[in-house]
Amino acid sequence: NFGDASEEQVSGAAVLARALKAQDVKYMFGIVGIPVTEIAIAAQQLGIRYVGMRNEQAACYAASAVGYLTGRPGVCLVVSGPGLVHALGGMANANMNCWPLIVIGGSSERCQETMGAFQEFPQVEACRLYSKFSVRPSSVEAIPSIIEKAVRSSIYGRPGACYIDIPADFVNLQVNVNSIKYVECCMPPPISMAETSAVQMAASVIRNAKQPLLIIGKGAAYAHAEEGIRKLVEQCKLPFLPTPMGKGVIPDNHPNCVAAARSRALQFADVIVLFGARLNWILHFGLPPRYQPDVKFIQIDICAEELGNNVRPAVTLLGDINSVTKQLLEQFDKTPWQYPPESKWWNTLREKMKSNEAASKELASKKSLPMNYYTVFYHVQEQLPRDCMVVSEGANTMDIGRTVLQNYLPRHRLDAGTFGTMGVGLGFAIAAAIVAKDRNPGQRVICVEGDSAFGFSGMEVETICRYNLPIVLLVVNNNGIYQGIDTDSWKEMLKFGDATALAPPMCLLPNAHYEQVMTAFGGNGYFVQTREELQESLRKSLADTTKPSLINIMIEPQSMRKAQDFHWLTRSNM
Ligand code: ADP
Ligand code: MG
Repeated sequence: NFGDASEEQVSGAAVLARALKAQDVKYMFGIVGIPVTEIAIAAQQLGIRYVGMRNEQAACYAASAVGYLTGRPGVCLVVSGPGLVHALGGMANANMNCWPLIVIGGSSERCQETMGAFQEFPQVEACRLYSKFSVRPSSVEAIPSIIEKAVRSSIYGRPGACYIDIPADFVNLQVNVNSIKYVECCMPPPISMAETSAVQMAASVIRNAKQPLLIIGKGAAYAHAEEGIRKLVEQCKLPFLPTPMGKGVIPDNHPNCVAAARSRALQFADVIVLFGARLNWILHFGLPPRYQPDVKFIQIDICAEELGNNVRPAVTLLGDINSVTKQLLEQFDKTPWQYPPESKWWNTLREKMKSNEAASKELASKKSLPMNYYTVFYHVQEQLPRDCMVVSEGANTMDIGRTVLQNYLPRHRLDAGTFGTMGVGLGFAIAAAIVAKDRNPGQRVICVEGDSAFGFSGMEVETICRYNLPIVLLVVNNNGIYQGIDTDSWKEMLKFGDATALAPPMCLLPNAHYEQVMTAFGGNGYFVQTREELQESLRKSLADTTKPSLINIMIEPQSMRKAQDFHWLTRSNM
């Protein structure tokens, strides 16, 4: 009876791949092995792009970045037990960042459960803490509706991670095609708006502000609220401050951007409007001494539970940032108002910006060798293509880099984020490059790494070379974590005993030639010590569109950031 449509069989792997395709999933990152190899093959056959990585953690970071960049979750595919455990770092990071992500883990055979099966582990329970939704479908037939629910959950409400467990015996199980009902693609997230009375109250608080400030978070970037927020800033002539990944929602070089006077702006504002930014450690909890004790916060967020965290807000606007911003704009269209551009507040901010900018320019102009952070970043900034994607991590490398490297476009910066995760850089860069290949061919990804940060997932350079991705990696190398020591001192130290006894725990091998990791796989590698070498290697790397590059930039091992008003700023992400 072969050939009869009703007898046609399909594997669990094929059902899973088709269910993902039906939910418009476009990208899958992972590492194959028992029992998930067939799933990757089936997905690729349906046109889902599969990117094979070298560690599940980096694969999971990559999949989550796709979610943030495109608004549709990427999939991270991992094997059972240790494969899934490696991916937990990526799930945690995605969930903390409020980014959509689907993790699919193979798991041991159901009939061997509790018997000590190969890589047996309580995976659904393990993922619960790192996700919004964690489940094993009860049968192959249940896979399509579970996938639809996972994709929907990952993007509805506050976005986050979802986990789906696929037992090994599902993967090759053959079921009758007619027993599978694929579910239509879930609808885009419903748009919610704030209460009208709250919007009116917010507009009136803003109108009465003496020292107003808008803070633009990565929630605003994710919500694609750039047009409305820019209108509000320009129409009402308000100063704004982006959070690290809020950079670019409005260009960093916009005249109303007060990033260079960040501490001052936070400390003396009397009304602060939060567009998708939580009052967590990045914003110093919204509390004194970093803020006025009686500052009025207006919080805009899609997550009701977020409203009122750490402060008692003056107004809460529960809803989608894009539509709430439009509601605010309607108020200012009805009764036009603008904040006086010649106010004392604007003058204070402008003065502080000028002096801060002058201080970093002075550091940047220092001719001494080895170079300092500011010198390096000023030279990088000079050559950065306007539309490039900037990925950044590392302690000082990220903190100082953020103040110098400019973003002109929304969703063009990826960094250690809410969780302060080191090791995200290469995974993020790979995701950004894969998305760029489809959406914006020719776009470059610049990945600015500290030497320590690079080490967490350095072998992903092989992945970058295998897919020949348009990435320029900069390793800002100070021989250590926060700081290191120079080669001579290192050698001197070893005369007195073993490195495990004597080397400061922050130290990494001095003068490490990280660029050879790139040349090992056929990319361009540069070792640079002077500003001229840096300029030249950057020019060559950006000009070569046929290959990825890595520039290993040696800097002063004790190089630090400029003096701060608040000493604990040096420990913070902003
Ligand atoms: P940042 O790190 O830039 O300060 P956070 O990650 O702390 O940003 O905050 C982002 C906030 O944005 C989260 O509280 C999240 O709930 C919210 N958010 C995400 N998407 C939307 C949206 N479409 N509308 C409103 N709020 C959103
Ligand atoms: Mg370092």
